[in-house]
Amino acid sequence: MATLADVLTARTHEAELYEALDGQWVRCVACGHACRIPEGAVGVCKVRFNRGGRLYAPWGYVAGAACDPIEKKPFFHAWPGSLAYSFGMLGCDLHCAYCQNWVTSQALRDPAAVSPPQDTSASTLVANAVHWGARALVSTYNEPLITAEWAVEVFREARRAGLATGFVSNGNGTPQVLAYLAPWIDLFKVDLKSFDDRRYRTLGGRLGPILDTIRALHAAGTWVEVVTLLVPGFNDSAAELEGLTGFLASVSADLPWHVTAYHQDYRMTDPPSTTPAMLKRAAAIGHAAGLRFVYAGNLASTVDHLEDTRCPGCDRTLIARRGFRVLRNDIGPSGRCPACQTPIPGRWN
Ligand code: SF4
Repeated sequence: MATLADVLTARTHEAELYEALDGQWVRCVACGHACRIPEGAVGVCKVRFNRGGRLYAPWGYVAGAACDPIEKKPFFHAWPGSLAYSFGMLGCDLHCAYCQNWVTSQALRDPAAVSPPQDTSASTLVANAVHWGARALVSTYNEPLITAEWAVEVFREARRAGLATGFVSNGNGTPQVLAYLAPWIDLFKVDLKSFDDRRYRTLGGRLGPILDTIRALHAAGTWVEVVTLLVPGFNDSAAELEGLTGFLASVSADLPWHVTAYHQDYRMTDPPSTTPAMLKRAAAIGHAAGLRFVYAGNLASTVDHLEDTRCPGCDRTLIARRGFRVLRNDIGPSGRCPACQTPIPGRWN
């Protein structure tokens, strides 16, 4: 019987994000691991592999697709109240013990993760997005950087249909993959999981490439929102949150920062769930660091006004939300506060 790896190997295409090396080795540049891969071997993500001195990457399938509020990604400063058609493949370059998408992200590492691929095409995904009235098409669920070539194939078609495009990513990028994506991507959500390199290494990554990705995306003019899942005892010390939010504010005080609640999942069953008080404390640290748009997520209706967008000029509530629902939106296509005319960064028209 064919294994999942066999099934996925048949759904690949020669990659673009790699360099050929001597002796039929290749170097993949789709993510910050920059794997050097000998002939016949796979990279850390297990979905990109070297066959005959060429790198092959996933192509032509999804492991899941759904149409959700764009707030669920979460993007709070991009077309509020619109729909995002989301698709995902399989695999990840990290292995977070608390992953909430482990059934797709860890499919090639964990036999308990069963998520069969469904063949599709870029035009089918775009037609589905248009059918459901989506404003944006978003690559998510697994780590999209490791399947960037397929995302660009889909995004080319999406742009022709007038859709915006986005990534929901762990941000473990390289200059090469960010340059490759730049012409085709409008929105980028980056998970900044910790501000401690030792902690990042326990998840299978490093802090440096994620910080570089946030800086590079902002400098390139891509719309970026940053999420930190607040895990008690893992990344919630005052010193770590001060460092993390200070870094974001040094890139731009206008970067929206979402601090979201952890619940026990996958292999992390020790820390208790994040409470509303923990989110509010973290949000206060973000505000003190100078961030102008700080949101608390995953605990709807328990975090005071921290689901709303408020004007940094006059403190008026501009967008009222509960969970993923927009209750009121006073930001028009001009992207300004209607009361004091302060510009609100984002994508509005
Ligand atoms: S995507 Fe990342 S983990 Fe996968 S082969 Fe390329 S560099 Fe390695």
